[in-house]
Amino acid sequence: MTAKVITDLPGPRSTELAALADRYIPKAVFNVHQVFAQSADGALLTDVDGNQFIDFTGGLGVLNVGHLPPPVVEAVTAQLARFTHTCFHVVRYDGYVRLAETLARITPGDFDKKTVLVNSGAEAVENAVKIARYATGRPGVVVFDHAFHGRTQLGMTMTAKPMPYKAGLGPSAPEIYRMPFPYGYRCALGPHPDDECAVHCADYLEDAIHTTIGDERVAAVVVEPVQGEGGFNVAPAAFLRRLREICDRYGILLVADEVQSGFGRTSRMFAVDHAGVVPDITAMAKSLAAGFPLAAVTGRAELMDAVHVGGLGGTYGGNPVAIAAALAVVDMLENGGLLDDGVRLGAQLEAGLAPLAEKHPLIGQHRGLGAMRAVELVTDRESRSGATAEAAAVIKGAAERGLLLLKAGTYDNVVRILAPLNTPPDLVDEGLAILDEALTAAR
Ligand code: PMP
Repeated sequence: MTAKVITDLPGPRSTELAALADRYIPKAVFNVHQVFAQSADGALLTDVDGNQFIDFTGGLGVLNVGHLPPPVVEAVTAQLARFTHTCFHVVRYDGYVRLAETLARITPGDFDKKTVLVNSGAEAVENAVKIARYATGRPGVVVFDHAFHGRTQLGMTMTAKPMPYKAGLGPSAPEIYRMPFPYGYRCALGPHPDDECAVHCADYLEDAIHTTIGDERVAAVVVEPVQGEGGFNVAPAAFLRRLREICDRYGILLVADEVQSGFGRTSRMFAVDHAGVVPDITAMAKSLAAGFPLAAVTGRAELMDAVHVGGLGGTYGGNPVAIAAALAVVDMLENGGLLDDGVRLGAQLEAGLAPLAEKHPLIGQHRGLGAMRAVELVTDRESRSGATAEAAAVIKGAAERGLLLLKAGTYDNVVRILAPLNTPPDLVDEGLAILDEALTAAR
């Protein structure tokens, strides 16, 4: 066994640090796990009390490459010996240009593209919306049920769930229109098989554009091809293709929020690649830079160039150390076998979770795309009522047995896996065995 928990959780050192955190950090800054990190390597994390965990969280979907992959460490170290910051607006550097060139090549679409680099997923989404509004001269933005796009004012407005993301934190930004997402298990238009749901949701959206927003008032449709925080709800390929058609018909820009689903997470470079759908603008962050704060907006060159000089940017956007990490990440995906690792991990997780979904009545649905996989827990399969407390118990129970997991879902009843794509197969099996035990214990 690799997972080794030798104290109660949290252990004494974590408890001491937690007391300090309670004193100096606002309680709004939430924590999934109560332990404090000491060190990490690959898919393993050791806490300050010497407990060793298998890490299926990847720092919230940021570590598709795992903790401290040598190519990233080398690239970052080399950059640290050159300079850490100049501000790209003040003195430019090669890395920014090289990463823009790389993202133009690897994002979908065979046309000229340009990239602006920013600091977070929320900032990437906000910039995508700013660019879309500017380029189209239209105000409206279509988003979806169960969506998550960030915690800034615009990001939280675009996010669906009021608690904890919006309640009391308003006012909301204007001109955001929410539509049903084809999440067949719980679609607002009624539970359907996913293929039917795709048609109903696309028809509804097209009709709503005429009847409630106005054809010429919509700048962009912003979609997560696999919803992350919303519970790993996979947009059927047919739905994404219909979105593309609808956008083309009405001069609307299609923005893919690939912040969580990008960089090999779904076993392709981007989740939209599965559907063969080409967005006009792609927002990226998380696993782009292996934990360094970096996000990107890549889009059609003519759209990106629409905004006047000075309209985009920021002091830290495109930090050179983070960029060095990102270039190493993309190289690992393209040339280091990491995309193939993701395909293997996705298959192993799917094969390992299917029998758990059979065995445990608590699991209402097992779903995902590639290595972006989750189980949705329900109190009973008939009512599909969300098993929120049980999901929390599974996550706590798994941690006590040495596996770090994350929750998701509108009802906080989804247990999701964001393990590094290169997690060794024996660790994946060990993690799944712990999940099995935690599911048994949580019933
Ligand atoms: N979009 C999606 C799809 C996300 O999953 C997230 C983060 N969970 C964001 C945007 C916001 O990213 P950040 O937390 O870096 O602002």
